[in-house]
Amino acid sequence: MKPRLFTPGPTPVPEETLLELARPVTYHRAPEAKAILAEVSEDLKYVFQTSQPVYTLTCSGTGGMEAAVSNTLAAGEKAILCTAGRWGERWRGILKAYGANIVTVEVPYGKAVTPEMLEKALKDNPDTKVVFSTLSETSTGVGHDLEGYGKVVAKTDALLAVDGISGVGAMECKMDAWNLDVVVTGSHKALMMPPGLAFVAASAKAWKKIDATPVRNFYFDLRRYRKSLAESDTPFTPGNTLIRAQRVSLKRIRAEGIENLWARHARIAAACRAGVEAMGLKLFAERPNNALTVIAVPEGVEGTATLKAMEKKYGFKLADGQDTLKNHIWRLSHMGYTDAFEVLGALSALELVLGEGGFKLDAGAGVAAFQKAYAAGK
Ligand SMILES: *Cc1c(COP(=O)(O)O)cnc(C)c1O
Repeated sequence: MKPRLFTPGPTPVPEETLLELARPVTYHRAPEAKAILAEVSEDLKYVFQTSQPVYTLTCSGTGGMEAAVSNTLAAGEKAILCTAGRWGERWRGILKAYGANIVTVEVPYGKAVTPEMLEKALKDNPDTKVVFSTLSETSTGVGHDLEGYGKVVAKTDALLAVDGISGVGAMECKMDAWNLDVVVTGSHKALMMPPGLAFVAASAKAWKKIDATPVRNFYFDLRRYRKSLAESDTPFTPGNTLIRAQRVSLKRIRAEGIENLWARHARIAAACRAGVEAMGLKLFAERPNNALTVIAVPEGVEGTATLKAMEKKYGFKLADGQDTLKNHIWRLSHMGYTDAFEVLGALSALELVLGEGGFKLDAGAGVAAFQKAYAAGK
C-alpha cells in the first residue's frame, strides 16, 4: 500500500528536494553555503512578499514565534492576543513565559477574530505594543483577514505579529502591502520541506521596537541574525542540509509563481469544500482557509476510528482534532506539494470508509462535486 500524507504539517516533499537531502553533508561556513543561504533568503522575500530580509532559524515553527515575542516585547508590556484555536493558544503560552501583560480577543474554535474586534481592543488599550495573530489557524481550518488587521494596526503605534505557519505559501499573504510587522513561518507546512527550519521577517517599524527592547534571549536574538545575514551567514550552526533542500523547494515555488500557487490552493480548497458538503458533511470553519479543509465529524460516527480505518485500509493519513477537538473533526491538508487528484483520492477514501461504517451517503457524490467545482474554478 502507498502511504499518503494529508496532515497539516508535515506535508509531502517533492522528489528533487528529497534527493538533495540525500547528498553529502558540507561545511556551513564555506562560500558555497553562504551563497545558498543568500539565495534562500532572496526567495523567501518573494514568498513573504517583502523587501525586508527573511531570517532562517534552525528550529520548528514555535522557535520563530518565540523569537517574535522575545524580541519585540519587554517584560510587563501590553500585548493583544487574537486567538481562535490551539495556535493562538501557542502565542499565549510564549507570551506568559516572557511575562507579557496579555489582553485577549477570543472566539470559540471554528470562528474567526474579525478586524472590528481587534479595532475595539486597540481602542480600549492604546498602550498596546504588539498584536499577535494567526493567518491560518491550523487547528480549526479558519483563515484570518490579515489584510484587515493590518489596516487597523497600521494606524496605531502597535506592531502586528503574524503566525504564518501553514498559511504562508498556501494562501494570499503580502507582508509589506498589508502592513504586517513580524511574519513567522516554518519549513514543513506549505513550503514543501521536512520540519526543522523557521523563517522570520520584521518591518522597519518592528526593527525600531526591537532595537529599543532589552535583549531577553540568546539563541533567538534577531539582532544576531540581522548582523550575520548581512554577510550571508548565520550566528550559530544552521541546519545547512535543510537550507540546501529548502533552496530546491523554493525554486519550485518560484517557477510556479506565488499568485499561481495561491490560485492553485484556492481552486483545490473550493473543490474540496464542495466535495465535503456533497457528502452530507459539514465544514468546521466559518471562514475556511485554503491550506486545509476541516470537516466536522457527523453525529453517530467515531472520528478517530474512521481516520484509523482510512490509514490502515487505504494508506491515507489525515489528522485528528487536537485536545478537546479530538474525535470531533477531521483535518485534510491540501497545502504545498499536493495536487487536485490526491485530494480527490482522499475524498474518495473518506467516502469508502464512511460507507463501510454504515454512514448513509451517495457513493461518489463527493468525488463528483469535487470534479464539478474544480472544473468551474480556474
Ligand atoms: C504547525 C503550526 C505551528 C507549530 O509549529 P511547530 O513547527 O510544531 O513548532 C504553529 N502555528 C501554526 C498555525 C501551525 O500550523
